[in-house]
Amino acid sequence: MTLAHFLDGLRCAVCGCLDVLWLDPVRGLVECRECGHKALCVPDAGEVV
Ligand SMILES: [Zn+2]
Repeated sequence: MTLAHFLDGLRCAVCGCLDVLWLDPVRGLVECRECGHKALCVPDAGEVV
């Protein structure tokens, strides 16, 4: 069981690499494994944090 979930078909907005983004559901953020860019994401619509 892995906590990180890779996001296929998504491109990093910073370095432009494809298929390098993975979702960390614990922290609720997406991170690029190439350049280390992090972005907050909303896991589920309707779930208020
Ligand atoms: Zn990147």
